[in-house]
Formats: sequence, C-alpha cells, structure tokens
Amino acid sequence: MDEKAVLIIGGGIAGIQSSIDLANMGKKVYLVEKKPSIGGRMAQLDKTFPTNDCAMCILAPKMIECANHENITLLTYSEVLEVQGEKGNFRARILKKARFVEESKCVGCGECAAKCPTKVVDEFNAGLGVRKAIYKYFPQAVPSTYVIDPEHCRLKQGKKCGICEKTCKAKAINYEQKDSEIVLEVGAVVMATGFDLYNVAPLKEYGWSTLPNVLTAMQFERMICASGPTGGHLKRPSDGKEPASLAFIQCVGSRDVRHKRYCSAVCCMHATKEAILAHEHCRGLSSTIFYMDMRAVGKGFQDYVRRAKAEYSVDYVRARPGRITENEENHNPVIHYEDTVTRELKAREFDMVVLSQALIPSESNLSVAGKLGVELDEFGFVSMTRDVLDPFTTNRDGIFACGFCQSPMDVPDSVIRASAAASKVAEALARGH
Ligand SMILES: Cc1cc2nc3c(=O)[nH]c(=O)nc-3n(C[C@H](O)[C@H](O)[C@H](O)COP(=O)(O)OP(=O)(O)OC[C@H]3O[C@@H](n4cnc5c(N)ncnc54)[C@H](O)[C@@H]3O)c2cc1C
Repeated sequence: MDEKAVLIIGGGIAGIQSSIDLANMGKKVYLVEKKPSIGGRMAQLDKTFPTNDCAMCILAPKMIECANHENITLLTYSEVLEVQGEKGNFRARILKKARFVEESKCVGCGECAAKCPTKVVDEFNAGLGVRKAIYKYFPQAVPSTYVIDPEHCRLKQGKKCGICEKTCKAKAINYEQKDSEIVLEVGAVVMATGFDLYNVAPLKEYGWSTLPNVLTAMQFERMICASGPTGGHLKRPSDGKEPASLAFIQCVGSRDVRHKRYCSAVCCMHATKEAILAHEHCRGLSSTIFYMDMRAVGKGFQDYVRRAKAEYSVDYVRARPGRITENEENHNPVIHYEDTVTRELKAREFDMVVLSQALIPSESNLSVAGKLGVELDEFGFVSMTRDVLDPFTTNRDGIFACGFCQSPMDVPDSVIRASAAASKVAEALARGH
C-alpha cells in the first residue's frame, strides 16, 4: 500500500490545482471526475473577471499538466462508490463507467460524431444547441476521448445503427465495454465537488422556461464563447437577431428566503463581466443590471464595476424585479420593477434578459459526503466546523475540502483554497507517517 497516495474527488479548477500541488510535492494523486473530462464549470466560462482573461486559455494548460504529470492518475467518467478506513489508511472503491470508446485508441478526430445520426440537447452548452449520441464533452476536453451516451445511442437502445464503429479508422469503438471497479489505497481524501446551477424554471415570474429571450447567465456564457453553440455571436433565441439592449437580473433564487437564503458570491461580478463582454461583441449595445446591492469585495473588483459604468455605459439599477412579461409582437421581455431609489413602479422593455441564477452545492455533494462521513451545512455545502483558522479540514481526520463545495467562491479563491488544502494534506500525511 502506498500510504502517501491522495484521492481527490472532483476535477474542477479546485481539484486540478490540489492535484498539481500534491503531485509536485511527490505525492501520488488519483483525481476522480464524474464527467468525461476534467475542467469543471470554469471550462464553460468565456472570460474571467476582473481581468477578462480567456478562461480556457488559463485552464487548459493546467488540465494538460494534470493529465501528463507522472504522479497523477486521471480517472474521468468515474465516481466514488465507497470509502472506508481512517486517516493514513483509506480504501476507496471507484466505478469507472464504460465510455464504449477505448481511451488508448481514440485519437479524438471526431469523424464518429460527424456521422452519428442522433442529436441530443447539449448539457455542456447549458441546453443551447445539440451534440451527438457519441460526443466529446467539449472541444478542449482532457482526455480528448469520445464517449457514447448509451441512453441516446441507437444501437445501445436496440435499434439498427453501428455507424460510428464503421466510421472509426482507429477501431476505438467498443460497444461491449463494461463498467469496471478500481480499488485505491490512499492516505487522505480531498473533496472538490464544486457546484450546480439552481433550476430557475419554478420561478415562473421570470419566465425562463416560457419566454424565449430570457436566458440564464451560464447560457449567456456559452453564447458569447467562440467555441459555444453560436460561435460566439450574441443572438436572440426567438429570431436570431443581435440584441441592442440587455438586462441582467441579480439574485434569482439567491438571498431569497423562498429559495436559497445565502449569497451566491460571484454573480455581481459575472454579470458585470458579461455586460462588458456583450458590449465588446455588439458595439452600441446598452446593458442594465438590476441588483439589490453590489458585492464587489475582491481585489480590483470595485474598479471593474467603475470601468463597466465609465467605459461601457453599464447602467446599474437598484431594484428587485417582480415579474417579466413579453411584448407579443417582437418577443421582447418586459421587466416590471420598483426602483428602490426613486420608489417608483416601472416597466422597461429589453431585447434579451439574463438571469443570475443561484448557485448550489453539486447534486452529488450529499452522496459523496455520506460515503466519506463528512458533515454538510444546512445548505448542503461542506461544513468547516472545526476551526475558523483551519477552513480546509472537515469533521473527519484525513479528509479535506476545497473550492465551491465549501461555499460559493470565485476561481482565485478556489485556487487559494485548493493549494492550502494540498499543503494541509501533505502536512497530515507527514505527521501520520
Ligand atoms: C455564470 C457563471 C460565471 C462565472 N464567472 C466567473 C468568473 O468570471 N471568474 C471567476 O473567478 N469565477 C466565475 N464563476 C465561478 C467559478 O465557476 C467557480 O469559482 C469555479 O468553477 C469553482 O471551481 P470548483 O473546482 O470548486 O468547482 P466546479 O467548477 O464546479 O468543479 C467541480 C468538479 O467536480 C466534479 N464532481 C462533482 N461531483 C462529483 C463526484 N461525485 N465525483 C466526481 N466528480 C464530481 C464536477 O463534475 C466538476 O468537474 C462563474 C460562475 C458562473 C455560474
């Protein structure tokens, strides 16, 4: 048994950073990611505040470093079944799901997907656009191996097909591939399971599921991304026209006792970023951000907001809109709100509306925490109950957490927590040894 090995659950930026740090300290790392690629939510972002760096340009080198590091074993499309034992001596059972494509043979050419006849709503593109039943999770995916989605594959559903197998020159398709189980002996575990997007469909007053030109912020991120479903062009879903006016509504489901009481922490800044980027995509476009109060607390954040106002004419209106209706003639969303500064009731029409939806713990936080014996707080984030001066250690010795699974936080904070957790793991293993 290698008692110095570490299991990291979740391959977003937090899990990636922890893995690289620990691997560079000479530790053996197993990074388990449930999706077909590492990258997490950051891979879905176009640019990042407050520098407007291209998200993929700073994430991809880390993903590649992770994949190529001699001390890191990537287990993608995999999930933790069970963890037993204690600090210095954990035994984890991992389920590696069948991709039906051999990782060692697939060259990622994409001929299979080009020929596949089945179209499926694309989860990575937040439901905008389609992918095929055999697909690569996103263009820069690591590993770049394709995967067959058995729920939609015609052949796996008992119908006649087999086109991808006939197309694949690398002979990588293996319809008979089975799920497999891997047992790992590790000394410590890091939970980095990240977050999910709150379903805003039940907030009927905002019309996300009924009004075509009301999008979520993640859909907007995908739309303005050059590798996204519209090739980076801002288009109204109702008619494909470029919008001339945009509105962002903050705290949709957050800071709301009917939904999630807490602040999602990153939305003031991502809406500011999206308004700036929208302006860069469509010159002359006007953006209005409806907010309760502006939370610009990180380094350079207040200046970012000031620049949005001064250089991009972004209008910040202090209001919590109560309802969105639609102008039926042109499908323009109409926002009804009380301007809390002037105390007036108003209605304003926009070409498109973007909802900053609440961000919630990953849907698998509960099951992962249950398997690890880790306590969660009332919202489902990992509890850091032990010590305010040690916000990486869970209630279980040898099990640590970092990133958004602890509480809402942006990329720089997730990276800081990830590196800190890595150093705590190294310290704990050294002490245990
Ligand atoms: C619309 C939007 C825009 C944003 N813009 C910015 C920005 O400009 N700048 C910025 O700093 N931040 C931004 N953020 C926040 C940023 O996305 C997060 O800070 C960051 O993604 C957190 O990283 P993470 O690794 O903790 O979590 P995640 O990115 O969520 O990664 C978690 C990973 O764990 C995996 N996982 C979950 N459960 C399991 C399991 N059971 N087993 C194995 N793997 C599992 C997931 O599949 C995922 O890959 C934005 C967020 C949103 C919603």
